[in-house]
Amino acid sequence: MLTLAIQKKGRLSSNSLELLEHCGIHLKRTGSDKLKTSALNFPIELLFLRDDDIPRCVEDGIADIGIVGDNIVLETMADIEKVLPLGFGKCRMSIAVPKYADYTGIHFLEGKRIATSYDTILQNFLDKKGVSADIHKISGSVEIAPGIDMADAIFDIVSTGSTLISNGLKEVETILESEAGIYKNKNLSEGKLSLIEKLCFRIQSVNTAKDYKYILLNVPNNKLDAVCSILPGMKSPTIMPLGEPGWSSVHSAIKEDMFWEMIEQLKDAGAESLLITDIEKMIL
Ligand code: ATP
Ligand code: MG
Repeated sequence: MLTLAIQKKGRLSSNSLELLEHCGIHLKRTGSDKLKTSALNFPIELLFLRDDDIPRCVEDGIADIGIVGDNIVLETMADIEKVLPLGFGKCRMSIAVPKYADYTGIHFLEGKRIATSYDTILQNFLDKKGVSADIHKISGSVEIAPGIDMADAIFDIVSTGSTLISNGLKEVETILESEAGIYKNKNLSEGKLSLIEKLCFRIQSVNTAKDYKYILLNVPNNKLDAVCSILPGMKSPTIMPLGEPGWSSVHSAIKEDMFWEMIEQLKDAGAESLLITDIEKMIL
C-alpha cells in the first residue's frame, strides 16, 4: 500500500484529485472534513494536508509520496526526491518593489526590509548574491507591506502579476519557477517503488495525451500524398478506404501547439470533413 499526501484545500487540490481520476484510480467517497481515504481499485491511501506540511511528512515517511509545489519543497528544505513534474500549479517567485523605486539591480536591496512568507528561499538567494537585507516573515497579504510602510520590497508568488500592479508594485527579480510535482521519500521498499512506477506510468500517459489531438479527415486519393506529408503521426497516419470509391479516411495524432496551422495546410491540400477529438490516454 502506497500513502500519498495531497493538499486538502487550495490551488493544487482539484488538479491532484482529477489526475488520480484520469489515471483510473477511484477513491472511496469522503466528506469534505475527512483527512484520509483510500482507493477502490489501486493500493493507495490518501492523506489530505496543508501544502506546507507535505514535504516534511514525506521526508518522515508518514506519506511515501506527495503532490506539492517545488516552491514549498525548497522552502521547507525537506530531503525528498522529485519523481515527476506534473504541469499544473505553475507560478514564479519574484522580488517586487514600489513602482516608482529607482531599482537598478540586486544591490538596491542592501539593508532594505523585505516582506515574505518564503524567508528560507529568499535568504538563500540573498546569501548567494552577497546582499544583506532585513527579512520580515509574514504569513499572508505580503503585497500590502510596502504600502503600509512595513517593508521596502516583497518576495512572493506571482502568476499573472495583476496583484502586484494593483498594489503599486513592479516585479524586478524572478528567483524561481515552480510547478507541482510528485516527490518521494528517499528510503522506500522495492514494493512501494514499483507502485510509484505504475502510478507514474499512468500519469505520463494522461499528461502526454493532453498535448495531442486526434484528427480524422477525408481526402480524395489523388491528394493523399500531399495530405499525409503534412501529418507527422506517431509512426505514420492510418489510411482506410472510404465507402465512396476514390476517397480515403486518414487518422493521426497531432500536437496541440501545431494544431491550427496544420488544419489550414490540410484544408489547402485537399482534406475535407475534418474531425478533431481529445485523446484520453496516450502511450508512446
Ligand atoms: P494551504 O492551506 O494548503 O497551506 P496555501 O494557501 O498555502 O494552502 P495555495 O494558495 O492553495 O496554498 O497554493 C498552493 C500552491 O499552488 C503554491 O504553493 C504554489 O506552488 C501553487 N501556485 C500556483 N499559482 C499560484 C498563485 N497564483 N498563488 C499562490 N500559489 C500558486
Ligand atoms: Mg500553505
